Amino acid sequence: MSRRIAIVGGGLASLVAYATLRKGGLEPADIAVFGTDLDPAADFRRRAGAIRQRAMRSESDGHAAAASWPGLAVRSALRRRDPAPLVATLFDRYHPTVGEFLDHLAGVRERTAWDESFVRERIRRVRAVEGGFELDGHGVFPHVLLAPGHPGLERPAELAGDPRAVHAYEPHDYADRVTVVGAGMAAATEWLNALAAGSSVVSVRRREPERRPLNLPRPLFTRRGPASFHRTGVPQRVALLRSWSSPSYPCGRAWDEPLEDARRSGRFSVVPELNGAEQIICATGFHRGFRHDPLLAKLVADHGLETAEDWIVLAPDSTVPGLSDTERTLALAGVPGQWAFPAADTLAGAKYAARRFLQRVRRCPTR
Ligand SMILES: Cc1cc2nc3c(=O)[nH]c(=O)nc-3n(C[C@H](O)[C@H](O)[C@H](O)COP(=O)(O)OP(=O)(O)OC[C@H]3O[C@@H](n4cnc5c(N)ncnc54)[C@H](O)[C@@H]3O)c2cc1C
Repeated sequence: MSRRIAIVGGGLASLVAYATLRKGGLEPADIAVFGTDLDPAADFRRRAGAIRQRAMRSESDGHAAAASWPGLAVRSALRRRDPAPLVATLFDRYHPTVGEFLDHLAGVRERTAWDESFVRERIRRVRAVEGGFELDGHGVFPHVLLAPGHPGLERPAELAGDPRAVHAYEPHDYADRVTVVGAGMAAATEWLNALAAGSSVVSVRRREPERRPLNLPRPLFTRRGPASFHRTGVPQRVALLRSWSSPSYPCGRAWDEPLEDARRSGRFSVVPELNGAEQIICATGFHRGFRHDPLLAKLVADHGLETAEDWIVLAPDSTVPGLSDTERTLALAGVPGQWAFPAADTLAGAKYAARRFLQRVRRCPTR
């Protein structure tokens, strides 16, 4: 294979990186995307579908196209011939529907010719060698972006094998009495889903969720946001990343009113511990940390990479120090890239890693 760039993982972060590389002048023949599903939206669609998410938490700029502008609000206003999305976006109130977002992803996939670069293969090992990185038996690539996504669903240990338990990101309906474990966006969505289905809901949570529009504080999404984060030392950075991973969901009447009504009529309550329930929905997210991902765990062990608790230590541009230089690049995108960009597991985070990866590729003298 003569391709010089490899993207490992075929999800949304990979699609964003692919679109960015294509806009930067690279051709499908230059890039191999190794993934498990030809459709880059497959995992996102399945998870959002399971919790019946209707609107994105992100705003107009939460898209997969290479350029920031036009965002999804402009596209929607033009398509609908209606200025409402533009007005809403002025007040950070525009949230595309999941359907609009999926249509947009399908358009990016087609326009960039993603399918031409796709190789259906799970990569088991990435080894630094002379001139780049060897990916199993697929040859040596000077520039590699790893975007494997989350390493599996997290469930409370005490519910292992419990037939009443289902993870929120797996298909399910709602029993008459539902217990939801967790207090983030997926949990809040499930409280409302189950109430709308006529169920009574018990929310099990050990601490109160924070209320904020985006999944991390808004300043972190700005151009200057990551700079002060990058000035932190290791213990402080670990503490910040831990604090930002606590559960949160947006503010607003659409969330509060149905819960308040249900609370008043005795159909919604909050408890600190699990007790008897007909159905338990685990809105407990994903396993956390590189050790849960065999590819990343092996990469760290093989190359003695620096780590800090759950995170692989990265340079501010999301590259792996010691394995990236002027002639080769190894970078991480998506959730494993949090050391460089705390909101790595968002579309904004995918763009952050993708743009810096493209800069590295462009600067490479042997490109
Ligand atoms: C319900 C839900 C709603 C969300 N809403 C928003 C939102 O509103 N705004 C926002 O910005 N973000 C949102 N996100 C977060 C974010 O956009 C997603 O987590 C996004 O899917 C991350 O993309 P990814 O490519 O890192 O991972 P994924 O989309 O999970 O894709 C990773 C892919 O890589 C494959 N893979 C893994 N290891 C290998 C390997 N070794 N070799 C080959 N392939 C491999 C996997 O099988 C998978 O197909 C949401 C997430 C969820 C779950």
